[in-house]
Amino acid sequence: MPLVHLSDMIRHASRHSYAVGAFGVANLQFLEGIMQAAEQCRSPVVLNLIEAHFENDEFEFLMPAVTAAARRAEVPVAINFDHGSSLASAERAIRSGCNAVMVDTSALPFSDNMWQTRDIVTMAHACGITVEGELGYVPGVEGENAKHHPGEPAYTSAAEAAGYVERTNVDCLAVSIGTVHGRMKGVPKLDYARLAKIKEATAVPLVIHGGTGLSDDQFRRLIANGVAKINYYTALADAANRRIKENVAADRKGVQSSLMAGVSDVVREEVARCLRLWGCGGRAAEVLAQCRPWQEVNHVVLYNVAEGLSEDKVASVMREGKSSMAAIPGVRSIQTCQIIQPGGKYSYCLMTNLTGQEALAAYHKHPAYLHFSSKIFRPAVVDHVSLDIREIVF
Ligand SMILES: [Zn+2]
Repeated sequence: MPLVHLSDMIRHASRHSYAVGAFGVANLQFLEGIMQAAEQCRSPVVLNLIEAHFENDEFEFLMPAVTAAARRAEVPVAINFDHGSSLASAERAIRSGCNAVMVDTSALPFSDNMWQTRDIVTMAHACGITVEGELGYVPGVEGENAKHHPGEPAYTSAAEAAGYVERTNVDCLAVSIGTVHGRMKGVPKLDYARLAKIKEATAVPLVIHGGTGLSDDQFRRLIANGVAKINYYTALADAANRRIKENVAADRKGVQSSLMAGVSDVVREEVARCLRLWGCGGRAAEVLAQCRPWQEVNHVVLYNVAEGLSEDKVASVMREGKSSMAAIPGVRSIQTCQIIQPGGKYSYCLMTNLTGQEALAAYHKHPAYLHFSSKIFRPAVVDHVSLDIREIVF
């Protein structure tokens, strides 16, 4: 199960002077192409879910596929929620399966950006989740990923970056030094001296957004000056678009076998090129050996209810508990179950799945849990036993 902590993965990259790739997952074809490239190159990889790309329930529907792809991979994978706009959306992403979040309040004035980011870091770290902050502003120029980033660039200052990192406690920092979201017009001028100063002033790995259109040499210089993660999407979207247009021109019928034919192949080719160029190809085994595996935990309560309590009453008690506790950060799901094995000691079971041991400790202290436990659950049950269970990863 090579789902790992992003903070460990990116620290390894920073220490060994290469950059991990964080690739935007737009749909299942992108997911397939990115994972195939990572496996082919024996490379660690970050699956990036960009908040603005999803409407209605698309994000929730896609996440089980993303999680399944990460869990069956043989290379280390982290699942990052990219450009999260609020504490609530970061909580939702964590609940859905992301094990890292990037907070984008970079359009706000410095101190508002800092305090909002700090609140998200406090919540996320209590769940064992890696957090990336952004300081300075990376605007969009053109392309699908550009329209979500209006306005002018604001370059990151080294002095502000030092204060921001210290006060927010982010695990890594996205900086603005001349790249743009979406497609560039012409060749961008990158401020390597600024990047080196930021690196010197902060103790965290640095991240570049807007990698599309940079030359091989520009990538090498970014990495040499402290960049340990590169976010990349528009070039993949452009390659997919070209392939879909060719499919349309060839007048193929249908969707999966024709319109989308070859999309995962073009995504795979471009991702593989980047992984090799950025130096993360061939590093899967050493990264895996040095990263903590992502280990979810379950809090399991077996119980019997007081005599005369109907099944309906049990259901309504548990429904109440479920709705209040499901909102606790780090809780991924709550299942209320009936034990069907005949003659067992207990009749019911409450199973809470959490992001990890940090989240479990916070869960046990949370007011919603304490209220449910003392005021709703205990009066309704006659005896119970509780177990905390951690998945064994091998
Ligand atoms: Zn970005």
